[in-house]
Amino acid sequence: MPIFLQCDRCTACCRWPGQVKLTAAQITELAAHLQIGEDLFIQRYTRLNQARNGLALMDQADGSCVFLDGNDCRVNPVKPQQCRDFPNLWNFPGSEQHCRAKPIEVTADEWRRRIKLATGRDREPE
Ligand code: SF4
Ligand code: SF4
Repeated sequence: MPIFLQCDRCTACCRWPGQVKLTAAQITELAAHLQIGEDLFIQRYTRLNQARNGLALMDQADGSCVFLDGNDCRVNPVKPQQCRDFPNLWNFPGSEQHCRAKPIEVTADEWRRRIKLATGRDREPE
């Protein structure tokens, strides 16, 4: 049976070192959600990504994402795909030591339904 990782909203993934890369479409969506222009959005909330070939979300002084507010994401309805996809569609060796998502055994149909809800994507269980 497929395993779905149920996020418990611990926010560790919004706090650990790394980067949330942005596509042009995501910048448009985020700026619209915040009701500001894209230029202002870029100036206020982004930085050059590590490869220096695009933009990523800025960090707060403590290293957490610029949109983390307490335990809430200020842009949750339009958060970047990278955020939506973790930890079910991508993760990294050792991430389970920090991420508190609970593994739940579900049917294939239920896995598809949950993945669609969490990520917006249509995927098949492996
Ligand atoms: S955009 Fe939201 S979900 Fe993504 S890292 Fe920032 S606070 Fe977390
Ligand atoms: S995906 Fe994991 S690390 Fe991120 S908020 Fe959910 S449980 Fe925490």
